[in-house]
Amino acid sequence: MTVTEETETPAVGSSTRRRVLVLNASREPLCVVSLRRAVSLVLTDKAVVLETDGSLLHSEWLSVPAPQVLALTRYVHVPYRGAVPPTRRTVLQRDEHRCAYCSGPADTVDHVLPRSRGGAHEWTNVVAACARCNHRKADHLLSEIGWQLRTTPRPPRRAVVLSALTRPHPTWKAYLAA
Ligand SMILES: [Zn+2]
Repeated sequence: MTVTEETETPAVGSSTRRRVLVLNASREPLCVVSLRRAVSLVLTDKAVVLETDGSLLHSEWLSVPAPQVLALTRYVHVPYRGAVPPTRRTVLQRDEHRCAYCSGPADTVDHVLPRSRGGAHEWTNVVAACARCNHRKADHLLSEIGWQLRTTPRPPRRAVVLSALTRPHPTWKAYLAA
């Protein structure tokens, strides 16, 4: 079945328009899919529509509201923690762009146990840091300079990763915050 999208409705951020947020049956954010995939999930009763953008998609046989947020009808178990690697973007998102040391605006990533001293590049050893703190800390251990972390670094929730890797549509916000 071919589904075509109505063309006359200019939507918020056309680049984000054709992506649909999929929640698990538990309502936890799961992934982001193409509009085509989303419609197929709905038409096969694998998902229900929670939010639409108000426009309609037309096929030869029927019209369906263009979904923006779906929930799966059956829970799927997806092992995930740690599956997404820490990158500058995902780490800054997890730490809300706040420096782990001084709470100021952060735009760099610091290895708590420096790589030069055997520190691994993993979620529990990376934090957002401002350039100043990162530079001052250099290759020191926290104990050597009397610094402390504000929080213990952990793998992020899926919603945090989705926010970092996609440009969330405004209608997704409530679901990603849950
Ligand atoms: Zn700082």
